[in-house]
Amino acid sequence: MNPDSAYNLEQRRAWEMISRHLARAEGYGLRLEILDRTRPYLAFRKELAAFQDARFKDFCTAACFNDSTSACCSREGIVTFFADAAINAVASTPEQIQLLLHTLANPRSDGRCVYLSNTGCLWQVSPVVCAMFVCDRLEREVLAPNPDLQKTWDDFQAKRKFFTWPDRPVLFDWLEEKFIGEGLDSPLMYLHKSPGLLKIKAKAGIL
Ligand code: SF4
Repeated sequence: MNPDSAYNLEQRRAWEMISRHLARAEGYGLRLEILDRTRPYLAFRKELAAFQDARFKDFCTAACFNDSTSACCSREGIVTFFADAAINAVASTPEQIQLLLHTLANPRSDGRCVYLSNTGCLWQVSPVVCAMFVCDRLEREVLAPNPDLQKTWDDFQAKRKFFTWPDRPVLFDWLEEKFIGEGLDSPLMYLHKSPGLLKIKAKAGIL
């Protein structure tokens, strides 16, 4: 598998840049500032993981993972935001980041996501797109027949927006802003680069 695909390169550059910068910034507490600001998001992710374990896990295991038909974690199938990487970087040890970089330089060749290892995802806090992914079959067979469950899932979707959707000041925008202020730039800074998201910010008057 080509380690220099545009996808891998973008990811690697973002990781290298963030980890280098956090190492340099240790002295003035950037990591602690980010961890502190990220606490409510991490609590949301914990609640989400507990819900998925309780309500989706058995279905996913029986429907897909046992016979390897899962559409989750397919190769270069996910959008990672710069903020996802920043959050994961502060939640990881230097060794865990080195493993991500090594994996990107030596990608698997079976059509699965580069970050998928034998023991699961290599991220400590997986990208929000992955965390919120549900396949059509789960929607049809688990959520649709159960309005209460569907409502809980819709509430999680709304909570996700509270951190990621820039129609108000959100954590994902703050994180990009923070690193831009520190002199960093990445194509993964979608809240500062995606025309669609910029339009939403302009409409909300937060540009
Ligand atoms: S959960 Fe992890 S392994 Fe799966 S697609 Fe997301 S980043 Fe890749």
